[in-house]
Amino acid sequence: MHIIVCVKQVPDTTDVRINPETGTLVREGVPSILNPYDAHACEEAVRLKERYGGTVTAISMGPPQAAEALRDCIALGADRAVLISDRAFAGADTWATSYALSRAIRRAEREWGPAQVILCGKQAIDGDTAQVGPGIARRLQLPQITYAYRILEVDKAAGRVVAERRLEKGIETVEAPLPCLLTCVEQINEPRYASLPNLIRAIRYQCIVWGAADVEADPNQCGLKGSPTAVARVFAPPEREPGDIIEGADVAEKVSGLLDRIQTRIREAATAPG
Ligand SMILES: Cc1cc2nc3c(=O)[nH]c(=O)nc-3n(C[C@H](O)[C@H](O)[C@H](O)COP(=O)(O)OP(=O)(O)OC[C@H]3O[C@@H](n4cnc5c(N)ncnc54)[C@H](O)[C@@H]3O)c2cc1C
Repeated sequence: MHIIVCVKQVPDTTDVRINPETGTLVREGVPSILNPYDAHACEEAVRLKERYGGTVTAISMGPPQAAEALRDCIALGADRAVLISDRAFAGADTWATSYALSRAIRRAEREWGPAQVILCGKQAIDGDTAQVGPGIARRLQLPQITYAYRILEVDKAAGRVVAERRLEKGIETVEAPLPCLLTCVEQINEPRYASLPNLIRAIRYQCIVWGAADVEADPNQCGLKGSPTAVARVFAPPEREPGDIIEGADVAEKVSGLLDRIQTRIREAATAPG
C-alpha cells in the first residue's frame, strides 16, 4: 500500500509576533517546527504501513528549510520525503497550495505507485484554515474523511476505509471508498520517539526536490498568480488589561470586596467630569 502524508513546516506559535507596521508575521529568529497535527498524520501513516505493509511518502511545499520538517517525518519512519519548492509557488493561498500539492501527489503516484490513503493534519497551526486537505481531495476527485480520530480498517481488496470522526459532541463511524484523503486530529495517536537508526537516517537524508515543471503544474495556477485570496489586513488584537483579583478569606468576604469595588466605580463614574 502506498500512503502519502502532506506536512507543513510552521513557525513555533508560542513565538509568533506580528510587525505592527507591515502587518506581516515576524519570522526572523522564530524557530520552525513540523506542524503538530502533521506529526500525528505521519505517525498514523507509519502505523498503517506497519499494519498493512507498503511505503510512506511525505510531501511538503515550502522554502528549502522546510526539508527539516520532512526529516522529522523520516525520523518517524517515512520511507521517502519530497519537498516541492519553486519561486513559482511563492505567495500561494490555500487554493494554489492544494493545487501544487495535488500535482506533487500525482507525480509521487507515477514514481511509487497509486496511493490508497492520503493523510493530512486537521489544520496548520499558523494558517489555521483547515482548507488544504479538503482542497487536495477536491482537486484529485477523492472522497475525504475530515477530523479522523481512529482509522479502524483499510481494506485494499474491498476498496474501503472505515474511520471514526471526532465531532463536537461525539464520535461518528464512516466508511469511504479507496483511495481516500483523511485529515487527522491530535487524539488519533501519540507520535513515537524516533528510533536511533531512523534518527541517523533522518540526519543524513537528502530530500527529493521537485519544482513546478517537475510536477507538471500550470504556472498560472501556482503561487500568487493562482491565488484568488486577498488579505485585506493582518493585525494583533490589542492586549487586554489584566483583571482585578479580589482577595478574601472566604466567599462572603470576596463578594463583599466585589460590591465595594463596584460601588467605588459607580461613584467615580458619577463624579467624573463631562
Ligand atoms: C494571498 C496569500 C499569500 C500567501 N503567501 C504565502 C507565502 O508566500 N508563504 C507562505 O508560507 N504562506 C503564504 N500564505 C499562507 C498559505 O496560503 C497557507 O499557509 C497555506 O495555503 C496553507 O494553509 P493553512 O496554513 O491554513 O493550512 P491548513 O489548511 O490549515 O492545513 C491543513 C493540512 O494541509 C496540509 N498542508 C498545508 N499546507 C501545506 C504545505 N505547504 N505543504 C504540505 N502540506 C500542507 C497539512 O497536512 C496541514 O495539516 C499566503 C496566504 C494568502 C491568502
